Amino acid sequence: ATPTAIMVGTGLGAKRGVLFKNAVALEASAGIQVVVMDKTGTLTKGEPEVTDMVTAPGTDEAELLRLVAAVERESEHPLAEAVVRHADAPGAGPASARHFENVPGQGATAVVDGHRVAVGNRRLAVREGVDLGPLADRREELADTGRTVVIAAVDGQASGLIGVADAPRETSAEAVAELHALGVEVVMLTGDNRATARRIAGRLGIDTVVAEVLPGDKAARVAELQRGGRKVAMVGDGVNDAPALAQADLGIAIGAGTDVAIETADLVLMRSDPLDVPTALRIGRATLRKMR
Ligand code: ADP
Ligand code: MG
Repeated sequence: ATPTAIMVGTGLGAKRGVLFKNAVALEASAGIQVVVMDKTGTLTKGEPEVTDMVTAPGTDEAELLRLVAAVERESEHPLAEAVVRHADAPGAGPASARHFENVPGQGATAVVDGHRVAVGNRRLAVREGVDLGPLADRREELADTGRTVVIAAVDGQASGLIGVADAPRETSAEAVAELHALGVEVVMLTGDNRATARRIAGRLGIDTVVAEVLPGDKAARVAELQRGGRKVAMVGDGVNDAPALAQADLGIAIGAGTDVAIETADLVLMRSDPLDVPTALRIGRATLRKMR
């Protein structure tokens, strides 16, 4: 590796806000065959908004929102923030949660006004012994439109569904197309439900989706993709993504992401633009050519 080529490559990247942390990162980017992208906050803006609300027969929407918001107020998850913002309409008096429990990759539970309230995905509903009943079909419909569906259960009964949308970043589809043009396979990795992930992946031109992955399992899924010696890059933004970034041959952090992701990554995209992923790979390839 000639120091001059590395300096040129690193400098080219820096101009575009593509920060290679070292020469090894630059060299690794030349050989990447698979790019794994986290969905929320990487391919999407990570700014979820409540778009739909469905209640079970006999459930009062305002009262349900009050209970749900009491739980979500204790959570730091971006979905929880969206639910709280939506529920914080004037009029609904605040309730307070006791025995709050965060369930990573699933949701949260607490006791509110003497009721056990669970807010999260299907896995959490199963864990809580909640049968979706008449809400099952609506949950599927909402997920098929690309919404993340939050299930709200009160005292073991499915009481409502909250549909949440998180728009793709403007350049995500273009970034995927450019990666494909470079001969690179693109994989979406997410903790979100399969139908939601598939719909969003379809819009972005991504054909491989690894969904419903628990936060602790992301690194193992990257390792599976590395089987047979395939060189895999992982792009992520969250605390949950850090072990997967470390496992990958090239860990890429979104600049707007968490400190842990940025510290763990080999490469940081300061503009938080997915298009800078193919740019980084092209810089790596050009640098390696000059080193031969
Ligand atoms: P991602 O990999 O998409 O960033 P997470 O692993 O953080 O997602 O969460 C996976 C899923 O768990 C979410 O899509 C959601 O269904 C559910 N979930 C997690 N935390 C919460 C919460 N506080 N409220 C509602 N749902 C939650
Ligand atoms: Mg994320």
